[in-house]
Amino acid sequence: MHPAAFANPGRFFKGNLHTHSTLSDGALEVAEVCARYRAQGYDFLALTEHFVGLFDYPIADTRTFRQDGFTTIIGAELHSGAMDNGALWHILALGLPLDFAPSNSPFFVPVDDQESGPEIAARAAAAGAYVVLVHPEWSGLSERDALSIRAAHAVEVYNHGSEVECDRGRGLHTADFLANSGRRLDFIATDDAHFHHDNYDAFGGWTMVKAEENTPEALLAALKAGASYASCGPEFVDLWLDDRHVHVRTGPVGAITLMGAGVSTAVSVGSGLTEAKLPLNRLEGSPWCRVTLIDADGKKAWSNPIWLE
Ligand SMILES: [Zn+2]
Ligand SMILES: [Zn+2]
Repeated sequence: MHPAAFANPGRFFKGNLHTHSTLSDGALEVAEVCARYRAQGYDFLALTEHFVGLFDYPIADTRTFRQDGFTTIIGAELHSGAMDNGALWHILALGLPLDFAPSNSPFFVPVDDQESGPEIAARAAAAGAYVVLVHPEWSGLSERDALSIRAAHAVEVYNHGSEVECDRGRGLHTADFLANSGRRLDFIATDDAHFHHDNYDAFGGWTMVKAEENTPEALLAALKAGASYASCGPEFVDLWLDDRHVHVRTGPVGAITLMGAGVSTAVSVGSGLTEAKLPLNRLEGSPWCRVTLIDADGKKAWSNPIWLE
């Protein structure tokens, strides 16, 4: 078995799928945000403004910032309905039409007579969007909340802004819970950069997407096909499975770890590791597995879950 991220034709493109500008509560103009990501070598960027009335329901039209070697995906961070903890939902929608109808979401608090989180997520997916459960740890997402979003394609397993500003940047606990519930969601890592403290919350988490060309259409199709992985540094080169092992090739890392539904894991540890062959029988019949890379600085990359039937 050869997961889509490694079997599909094309190459990996690097991008940040979650960012804010002065169109909502970010500190920099759209042009400057695009310029900074381009200067850092990113291939694509999604400006995903807070879709609330306070900011006049912005969907950033970044098409004019597309140029050779750099593209943009149209999207927004949607807010409607209350989570179990009473706070307003945050749901990322990528590949959203520019004329996506506003929700009834005047401010960052739930109001009566607005769509629920599951409803606005379903409306975005029906409009063609790739829908992501974002910053589950920052949001305090309950298991019931996570299960309620049937339209989701992915979980944001790392949100750099939440990590560096309040130590709540992770989403893997939610992601594993969803996999154990049979939900087949992929992973993204993002910055959720707002640039209020220069580049403090930028360039720390990104998604690598395997596609034949760097266009929004090809990138979104690849994301929906699962041809991606999430990273804060390490690189996957290849990953494939035979009946008994997961084979992984990477850039230099310190550990390559295999895990699944149970508590048992398999790991290869060493200095400058670039490959590993990890035994599936350690997972004791788990219906899914996934691989994490950890480099010498503790930076990680995460494969999507791989379903083993
Ligand atoms: Zn958010
Ligand atoms: Zn955000």
